[in-house]
Amino acid sequence: MITQTAKCRYCQSDKLIEAGQQSGQQRFKCKNCGRAFQLDYSYEAHKPGVKEKIERIAHNGNGIREALHAQY
Ligand SMILES: [Zn+2]
Repeated sequence: MITQTAKCRYCQSDKLIEAGQQSGQQRFKCKNCGRAFQLDYSYEAHKPGVKEKIERIAHNGNGIREALHAQY
């Protein structure tokens, strides 16, 4: 599960509980300090689907500028 690698952004505790979703993103609550938060985007990049999408855009385009241009 994702909770095994996720850590609290405030106290770095890995004792997180799922706290529902907001705007399609999973929210977590830290059992150590009691704060709720969404995971950083860096964690999203570790998900296979997102990483593949980024790599595919990078490979198809000739750089970031074209990759960004293709989204519009
Ligand atoms: Zn915490």
